[in-house]
Amino acid sequence: MQRILERGEIESLDHTKIPRLRLPEGGTVFAERAARLRQLSAGHAAAAYLQLMAQIADIQHRLLPDCPAPTLDPEALQLAQAHGMPPLQAIGRERDPSWRHVLQALLDQLAGLDTLTPQTRSVMTQLQTLRTQSPDDLESLADAILAERDADIDCQQAPFIMAALQVYWTAQASRLDPVQVPHGTPFGTCPVCGSLPVASIQRVGGTRDGLRFLCCSLCATEWHVVRVTCTHCENNKSILYHSIEGGPEAIQAESCDECHSYRKLFNQEKDLEVEPVADDLASIPLDVLMGEAGYSRASGNPLLWQGAAATSE
Ligand SMILES: [Zn+2]
Ligand SMILES: [Zn+2]
Repeated sequence: MQRILERGEIESLDHTKIPRLRLPEGGTVFAERAARLRQLSAGHAAAAYLQLMAQIADIQHRLLPDCPAPTLDPEALQLAQAHGMPPLQAIGRERDPSWRHVLQALLDQLAGLDTLTPQTRSVMTQLQTLRTQSPDDLESLADAILAERDADIDCQQAPFIMAALQVYWTAQASRLDPVQVPHGTPFGTCPVCGSLPVASIQRVGGTRDGLRFLCCSLCATEWHVVRVTCTHCENNKSILYHSIEGGPEAIQAESCDECHSYRKLFNQEKDLEVEPVADDLASIPLDVLMGEAGYSRASGNPLLWQGAAATSE
C-alpha cells in the first residue's frame, strides 16, 4: 500500500526535490491512451466513440516519431525564460503548416479502417476538403479549438483537428529539456504550451508518489499542483470531493465553492491504469452529477466537444 502525503507534509517537503513537471514520453503517451480507451470501452454506453478515439490514439502513436514539428527557436526559449511564459505557447503563436500534414496522415490512416460509420467518413471528407481548398478556414478552426471558443467550433470535426494538433505539440514538448521550461508560469495552465488541463492525476511510485499533477489537454505535459487546491482559482478553503455512488473509487470530481468549478481527479493508488484523457472521456455520468450539483467544468476534454459524440452514432 502506498502512503499518501497529507497536505501539510507536502508543503514541508524540500520543494527542490518535488518533480515539478513531467514532459511527455513520445514512445508511450498515445499508446497508453489507446490501450486505456479500449479497456474502458468494454460494455460502455459510448463504446463506439471510445473505440474510435482509441483508433485515433493508435494513429497518433504511429505519427509522433516522424512528426515534422519545427525545431525550437533559441531566442523564443530565452524570451519565455525571461518572462516566465510557456515556451511553446499554443495561442497567439504562429503554427508551422506541417501540422496540416499530420492531419492528412491521420485521415489517410483512418480511411483504411473498416469500422468507420458513414457519418464519420462524411466528417473526414469535409476535413479533406477544408485542408486542400480552404487552409485558412482550417487554421481558423484550429485557433478556435486551441482557445476553446465553442461557438466557432464544428464539434464533429474538432476531435480530428485536435488529434493532429496534439501530435504536433506533443512532438515538440517531448523534445524539450525540463530546464528549458520556466518556473512561475501562470497558475492553472500548462507550463509548456499554456493550454488548460483536462484533469488531474494522483501518481504512485518514485519521486512522484502521492503527489498530484495536472495533465495538459494538448501537449500531454504533467505539472505538480498541491492537493486539496482548486486547480482553477487556487483557493484551498472550499474544496469538496464527489463521486458516483458505487462507481470506480479512482475517479472523483474536485469542486471549489469559491469559483463553482470542478475538475476530475484520477487516483493511481486505486487504479494504476488511469489515463487522464481516456478516463475523463469515459466518466460523463460524473459530469452530469456535477452539473446537477451546480458546478461547471473548468475546461473541456480535447476529444469531446459539445455534441461530438454524435459522430459515432
Ligand atoms: Zn501543454
Ligand atoms: Zn476555484
